[in-house]
Amino acid sequence: MTESYQPPVAEFPLLQQNPQLIYLDSAATCQVPAAVLNSFQHYFTSTHANVHRGSHRLGRAATDLLENARGIAAAFIKAPADDVAFASSTTAALNGLAQQLPVSWREGDEILLTDAEHHANILPWQRLAKQHRLVLRFIPVDPVSGGLGDWQQLINERTRLISVTLASNITGAIFPVAAVCALARQRDIPVIVDAAQAVGHTELDVTALDCDALVFSGHKAYGLPGVAVLYMNARWWRRMEPFVVGGGVVRQVTRHDAELVDSIQRFEAGTPNTAAISATVTALEWLQQQRAMGLTGYLQELRQQLVDGLQQRPWLQVLPAGANHTPVVSFYCPQVHAYDLAVWLDEQQVAVRAGHHCAQLLLQSWDLTAVVRVSLAAYTTAAQVQQVLQYLDEAWQMLGPTAE
Ligand code: PMP
Repeated sequence: MTESYQPPVAEFPLLQQNPQLIYLDSAATCQVPAAVLNSFQHYFTSTHANVHRGSHRLGRAATDLLENARGIAAAFIKAPADDVAFASSTTAALNGLAQQLPVSWREGDEILLTDAEHHANILPWQRLAKQHRLVLRFIPVDPVSGGLGDWQQLINERTRLISVTLASNITGAIFPVAAVCALARQRDIPVIVDAAQAVGHTELDVTALDCDALVFSGHKAYGLPGVAVLYMNARWWRRMEPFVVGGGVVRQVTRHDAELVDSIQRFEAGTPNTAAISATVTALEWLQQQRAMGLTGYLQELRQQLVDGLQQRPWLQVLPAGANHTPVVSFYCPQVHAYDLAVWLDEQQVAVRAGHHCAQLLLQSWDLTAVVRVSLAAYTTAAQVQQVLQYLDEAWQMLGPTAE
């Protein structure tokens, strides 16, 4: 075990108030450290005002805070701050992108996704495909390795856009998105990266990736729900209509037209949730500090212990869990339904998720309907991992075919 890293459980008020809880659903949403909650509260007790409008000093302080947060979020993904907008969620950003991309679609144009996409990165493209008679193509996912199947073959002269997740929310597999971006760039095909599952576990570098857009939700990285960070390449956003229009983004309005500001703020019409944004960038800073203290290696070791333990139990089928994965592991038991296992674990105060995890395509392609997902985070301990394995043994005794 990485000696240097101590899981900072004491920093999580919810976990302190529920010492029996074993929270293993961090891929759905992370628990929030006190520093982040304090930042949220501090905003309201020190800086709360509307931004970009105030001629008073509190309004200016709120604006400065927001713009400072933009700089921190941009640095976190190695993007220029001028190319980073705050959105309300990954889902909202992907919907906005799908509707406003500066692409003149022609019937039969193709959009390339993977079978591992979260529904948030499928449904917006389905809607767009219906509007313009586009073709959606899906890169298969190998059932043994969990990696992408032959994606190069699926890029052709009709491919107009690629939108892919950096990591599967079911297996944790990290996909070779840099290679996808490199080939796409050669062929002048834009790439959108859904980094919602990657943000908590891998360093993000949009400059190295050379993608056209990248988005993640703050709540997947110890921040607050209601905030997403959306990077868009300037080549793109300067030619793109904002997803939402209204106050705060206007230079001049006449009765029938409006001239918008020409900065990235044009994508943030209305009053932003500055409190949640500021708390979320505190979370990103907190996460960077944890990484510097060894979080990534720690979680990889914990994940390996979990995978080893699950694989030692022959009644469980573990989905691909190879080397290059985030600490997210899914499994099922052919004889006991995933929901029954999850309910059993819940009775022991273990929070895991069972179901299709909003990634039905992946499970369908593997002929599965529901799996149990265990996802680890900074506050997970080795003892908790062993405890869960023991509870699974008990579940098998109680619910398996030899149960009385
Ligand atoms: N993409 C992936 C890969 C996800 O895991 C999630 C969250 N489950 C989303 C998109 C959607 O994120 P949100 O619900 O915050 O919009």
